Amino acid sequence: MGRTSKDKRDVYYRLAKENGWRARSAFKLLQLDEEFRLFQGVTRAVDLCAAPGSWSQVLSRKIGSPQGSGHVVAVDLQAMAPLPGVLQIQGDITQLSTAEDIIRLFEGCPADLVVCDGAPDVTGLHELDEYMQAQLLLAALNIATHVLKPGGCFVAKIFRGQDVTLIYSQLHVFFSSVLCAKPRSSRKASSEAFAVCQGYAPPEGFLLDLTKPLPDCSYSKGLHQLDGPTHSIVPFVTCGDLSSYDSDLGYPLDLEDGSEHKYTPPM
Ligand code: SAM
Repeated sequence: MGRTSKDKRDVYYRLAKENGWRARSAFKLLQLDEEFRLFQGVTRAVDLCAAPGSWSQVLSRKIGSPQGSGHVVAVDLQAMAPLPGVLQIQGDITQLSTAEDIIRLFEGCPADLVVCDGAPDVTGLHELDEYMQAQLLLAALNIATHVLKPGGCFVAKIFRGQDVTLIYSQLHVFFSSVLCAKPRSSRKASSEAFAVCQGYAPPEGFLLDLTKPLPDCSYSKGLHQLDGPTHSIVPFVTCGDLSSYDSDLGYPLDLEDGSEHKYTPPM
């Protein structure tokens, strides 16, 4: 233990296989929940950019209904194997038609939680990748403004690039609390983090408009916070129990208490 692992298949990868999660990302959502109690009182949720489906699995186990009454709606460009209690839409969240399909499912009964783990295909050009990531986040935010109930919560992957402050300011227009969280299962070397936005409260006079990729943020406490003493500073929180595995370390297969590792086949 203690060696930095260069192996992409780290301890969380192994644990995901052993525990039947479709991707190691499941641990990111579970660790965010440990810190922020995201699922408390939640009965309806949307998982944007959901494939292969480990966040939907977490949502399905924590809040979904095994009877299949569809309390969780999962959306991705790619098809996903079915999950109990999860209604699926295959589509592009930046497209109007997909957003309309999602919103239609929540008409009359809004969602408590919208999550988005969306990642564009990485080009290696940091600025372009950050820009594309921001576009996905803003498309997700636009959908969230249509489906979230007042007080609802929005969690989205962000890359902590140079323009991240602008995104935080945009999020602050719609949520009373915005934090930047880094779960222990997210590799330290990665600029990935998650914006955790709680207390959905659109500004007075805010008009929903799905045709704009970005909700109109030119409201009171919006973009003017970018400069000077009102510059919006977002707290950074690491989450996941300190005793949980560190995604940047390599671990021997044998356990620390001396007992031998028993092979568990992937589920
Ligand atoms: N949270 C997922 C899980 O736990 O299994 C992993 C999500 S994966 C990191 C990112 C996903 O974003 C990919 O499946 C990709 O297809 C999806 N994606 C990227 N751009 C998208 C878009 N415009 N609309 C819908 N999905 C998109």
